[in-house]
Amino acid sequence: MGRKLLVNGTVYDGKGNEPVVADILIQDDKIAAIGENLDRDGADEVFNVSGLTVTPGFVDMHRHCDKSPFETAKGENTYGKVMLRQGITTTATGNCGISMYPLSSDRAVVEEMRNYYAPVLGNIDAYGDIATYEDYRKRLKECQLPVNTAAMIGMGAIRIAVKGFSEEPFTESEIKQCQNIIEDALKQGAPGVSVGLMYLPECFETVEELGEILKPVGTYGRIVTAHIRGEGDSLVKSVEEVVRIGRIAGCRMEVSHFKSCGMANWNREIHKAIELIEAARRDGIAVDCDFYPYDCGSTTLLSMIPPEFVNGNIPEALARLQTKEGRDALRDMLECTYDNWDNYAISLGWDKVIISAASKPENQDKIGKSITEIVEAFHYEDEVEAVSDILVSENGTAAIIIRSMEQSDIDVIAKLPYSCVISDAIYAETDRPHPRMYGAFPRLIHDYVYQRKVLTLKDAIRKMTSMPAQRMGLEMRGVIEEGAYADINVFDAMKFKDMATYVESTRYAEGLNYCFLNGNLVVKDDEVLLENCGRML
Ligand SMILES: [Zn+2]
Repeated sequence: MGRKLLVNGTVYDGKGNEPVVADILIQDDKIAAIGENLDRDGADEVFNVSGLTVTPGFVDMHRHCDKSPFETAKGENTYGKVMLRQGITTTATGNCGISMYPLSSDRAVVEEMRNYYAPVLGNIDAYGDIATYEDYRKRLKECQLPVNTAAMIGMGAIRIAVKGFSEEPFTESEIKQCQNIIEDALKQGAPGVSVGLMYLPECFETVEELGEILKPVGTYGRIVTAHIRGEGDSLVKSVEEVVRIGRIAGCRMEVSHFKSCGMANWNREIHKAIELIEAARRDGIAVDCDFYPYDCGSTTLLSMIPPEFVNGNIPEALARLQTKEGRDALRDMLECTYDNWDNYAISLGWDKVIISAASKPENQDKIGKSITEIVEAFHYEDEVEAVSDILVSENGTAAIIIRSMEQSDIDVIAKLPYSCVISDAIYAETDRPHPRMYGAFPRLIHDYVYQRKVLTLKDAIRKMTSMPAQRMGLEMRGVIEEGAYADINVFDAMKFKDMATYVESTRYAEGLNYCFLNGNLVVKDDEVLLENCGRML
């Protein structure tokens, strides 16, 4: 790979320090020297980056691209481009309790799990059985990786492997089984365990059970990231749970995609949740958070149905949705509020729930429309009829974008000194993903730094680089310093911007002059040159 010299850039180290104008010498895959007037003679290639911003490559610790490396092996997808065009050089899979592994020994359960995960991971059937964390790592190492890739293990998948979709409490031997699976993954190098308390069947888990199961994470000094139980009315209680789990498990906790949903909660509940987190931090419990810089969320349509209705059995719930009795029951249940589940039909309203992914021909015209608009356009009697029809015809796998947040709340989160940025990109089979998939990282610079001046550039960069790298335990990544890996972005900070919108959600970011990955030049003037320079971390 030789020696590359970046001359006269405005260098942000990723650690939040003020920038310095300096040259950077890349030797093979590492940063060999940083300083003024480095010797040009020894360099094989010289890049004049005078006047441009130089940062560490961005680290997206929360992306649901678990199966994408296998697709790239078949040469059929753009997932590398989507990341590299926005300067992401490292990502982590296995989030929100959801991973492709481990697997139940019961085929029907495996199929149900894959079907249940399809709105987040896409169709994972085609990629064969990945029974263990170790298998996944091996398989990824055989793929050409466009970016560095780390993999968490999902507690939801672990639970399904151990006890299916059952809502029964864990037995002692099941707890031990979960701990063994987790310990194996941690030994293999997993940065940690993700939990998804909002999702089936993890919604049946208690703090005490999880605290016990996750103890190995504490022992190994790794992290637990949590898609919390509720992000609306139950936000504060749900954050409190995270703190309690961390206290029992003795590990570092991260509240994933921290936000406050539901109009009645805006400008209020987030402050209470932050108070809780900060009290825990003062108490010596490491609780951090991350966020994506958008006011709409993205999840499954099934998550709009009360867990009591689904009752741990999705096929049966879908069968009930085909009957009048079932729909009446759902209608009644959607008129109530719940302690352990956010009823967005009430707290937000169906007009803020937009179908973003559906695979059946009869639903294609519904994509991009709110449930309220669908009722109108397709002459449904009410929202329950529309939602039931879509869920039944899609076999439960439709995805939604939901206008659930208030910008001022997100800004409060963005300013927290311990919040980092993620994309939470979801890989459902759709050509209309949430725009965060294509633009989350440059959006933080363009919108949060330059347009609305919520953050300084050095803080924004830190939230996209050293902070997530540290949380994932990635040494010498996410920083520009001598000896660090040469993952480096170069751009004009005023011009680098996200282009994806809710309407045109697959537009690539623009304004990335150079991106280096493990010392290779992988992007030049928004053109992706190489998609095989990433490493399994
Ligand atoms: Zn999540």
